[in-house]
Amino acid sequence: MKTDREVPEACYPGAMAEHATRLAEVISALEDELLFVVTGAGVSAASGIPTFRGSEPDAVWKVSDVELATFEYFQQDPVGQWRWYLKRFDSVETARPNPAHEALVELESWQTARGGRFQLVTQNIDTLHERAGSDRLIKIHGTSAKLRCATANCKHGAPTGSIDRADVDVASFRADPSRATLPRCPACGGLLRAHVLFFDEYYQDHADYRFDQAMDLARNAGLFLFVGTSFSVGVTDLFLRVASEGDIPAFSVDPGAAPPPYFPIVHLRAAAEKLLPQVAKMVSQMAREPSSPW
Ligand SMILES: [Zn+2]
Repeated sequence: MKTDREVPEACYPGAMAEHATRLAEVISALEDELLFVVTGAGVSAASGIPTFRGSEPDAVWKVSDVELATFEYFQQDPVGQWRWYLKRFDSVETARPNPAHEALVELESWQTARGGRFQLVTQNIDTLHERAGSDRLIKIHGTSAKLRCATANCKHGAPTGSIDRADVDVASFRADPSRATLPRCPACGGLLRAHVLFFDEYYQDHADYRFDQAMDLARNAGLFLFVGTSFSVGVTDLFLRVASEGDIPAFSVDPGAAPPPYFPIVHLRAAAEKLLPQVAKMVSQMAREPSSPW
């Protein structure tokens, strides 16, 4: 059966404008309902941050990224994992927010200014949403801005503790990566680790992931907007399930592969950094033109 859920990018003139109009219409119609946005690696790709699990030729550690980002690997080879994360943190630091990040800030401002609700949940550990100015933000996979003690129940460790990465001196480890120079917790002397959700860990392992809050908010969403998510990570599946069960409309903006076919979701095949600025501009124009036929 042919449906309108799949529209190829720019296969005909004006496709991008049609996508933008369609999305602007549904966002505008939300009024005070919750606009629930989920972003993935695709939103940061235009800022030059390699996708974590993607198959692009320049994707970092494509050989065994899933294996590297595990607690098991941290325990086996903390030096190797620290070297990997430092390289990743460095690439994140030099990146700048792109027009997709900025458009999401505009949508948040616009939606909240009219008394509506807005929530952004990102799977990205980079800090580009914060630096662009996003306020209602849940970093469900952790953040590159922090580290934590690997020793449970240390004040800097799970379930609630962390430490700013800027406060940790990694110079000696950088100069001579070894077990002796591994960054250590200032409170207990244990090893520090990335403040991120490893693939062999659970969302409930740390309060900062705010998983339960994200799920509660999702159940009250008026619209789901997935941006640059590959749908290969468990949490997007959970959100899609919520959307499906609650009959909540869902859109995906991504230039790549279509979302899983077993959920009702409209796929707008487009690059977020091109489409979202148009959408943000359109919704603000709609607000100024109350007589327009929306
Ligand atoms: Zn500690």
